Amino acid sequence: MTEFSTRQIQAGYVPGTPQNTAVPPIYQTAAYEFASLADAADLFALRAAGNLYSRNASPTQQILEERIAALEGGASAVAVASGQAAVAVTLLALVGRGGHIVAATQLYGGTVDLLQETFDDFGIPVTFVDQDDPDAWRAAIRPETRVLFAESIANPIAQVLDIRAVADIAQDAGVPLVIDNTVGTPYLVRPGEHGADFVVHSATKFLSGHGTSLGGVVVDQGTFDFGREPARWPHFTEPYARVGDFTLWDRFGSGQAFAALVKSKYVHDLGPSLSPFNAWQILQGIETLDLRVARQTATALAIARHLQAHPAVATVHHPGLEGNRWHPLAQRYLPRGGPSVFSFDLAVPLDAETQGSVARVVDSLQVIRLVANIGDARSMVNHPASMTHSHLTAEQRAAAGISLTTIRLSAGLEDPVDLIADLDRALTLV
Ligand SMILES: *Cc1c(COP(=O)(O)O)cnc(C)c1O
Repeated sequence: MTEFSTRQIQAGYVPGTPQNTAVPPIYQTAAYEFASLADAADLFALRAAGNLYSRNASPTQQILEERIAALEGGASAVAVASGQAAVAVTLLALVGRGGHIVAATQLYGGTVDLLQETFDDFGIPVTFVDQDDPDAWRAAIRPETRVLFAESIANPIAQVLDIRAVADIAQDAGVPLVIDNTVGTPYLVRPGEHGADFVVHSATKFLSGHGTSLGGVVVDQGTFDFGREPARWPHFTEPYARVGDFTLWDRFGSGQAFAALVKSKYVHDLGPSLSPFNAWQILQGIETLDLRVARQTATALAIARHLQAHPAVATVHHPGLEGNRWHPLAQRYLPRGGPSVFSFDLAVPLDAETQGSVARVVDSLQVIRLVANIGDARSMVNHPASMTHSHLTAEQRAAAGISLTTIRLSAGLEDPVDLIADLDRALTLV
């Protein structure tokens, strides 16, 4: 199974359960019956692998985990209830006690909320840096830094990260790089091939593609060696007190120890488990990932080119356009095409009328819907300044490249002719 489209349909599932179902079944059960007390004890002590209780995992979830790991070229994966949960448990597992995080300022708004408010409440320090400034990444690293975090393609401005440059900085510092590849998708870019050690996704978006289910996943690429500087990673390299007298690094090793820690500690304790039904829904979506993303990518570029020539549009932020600041990085990292989530700024003055002009355009769209989501089969717009990025301060919004006139578009699977006509109709109202 070497090719992407074969993996997205088959990885992780071998028909052969007693019912011979061709499609992975939904194992909708909270718990599992043990063969014997001895077997149960082995499972609880992590001496054996198997089904225990669905807070830890369900068989449907495990198929999803194997499939996404296969698509990202990773060693293992952990699926959880949402992208937000995937980011949270990943960072918590890496920072441990006393660790520090360096993160890009261009992150998703929900991640910014998590890092600068909830993690701050927990006493976990985070330094935000401009992701395009390698010196800023280097300067932010402290002895207690335990992780660097950024998105492969940010939104709404669709900045493309120089993954390799940040990965090299992480490697020099002896810490892992975590990349949120939600907008990138493993079809367009696999951050592990460019030096990222962990990849997280909101599976709610492109992996699902149908907009029915929340889910998140973290993939361990199996590249980060927690045993090289054991004193930095005591939660991997000291005895794992809750289950026995062994270390996770010795017991599970590279590519598996992280998943074991995330499941047996962070998901176990905090409880953001993925429901078997949602795992199954996401599996259905993944089977058509390449077809959808290829089509959405082409549609988005066609719309971006059209808007670029439109008098009511001041700027189009799409890295597939020549002249875009991230076009060279897009050519390097996105050979199959650019993101289908991008944005454009309306050509209206910034004054008391701005919000009204934006609202007239957004509210008059008929084919494209006003929805705070991306990666769906439906095309959607969002006004970041009053919706997804409304928690950011004006300075943070400016640093993320978002203006009061910025409209984000997530191109869906409708015919581009209808989408462009819809935009043209709405833009007459600017
Ligand atoms: C949506 C999103 C998240 C959060 O995922 P949820 O599934 O909504 O919890 C994280 N990162 C990015 C880039 C996203 O777009």
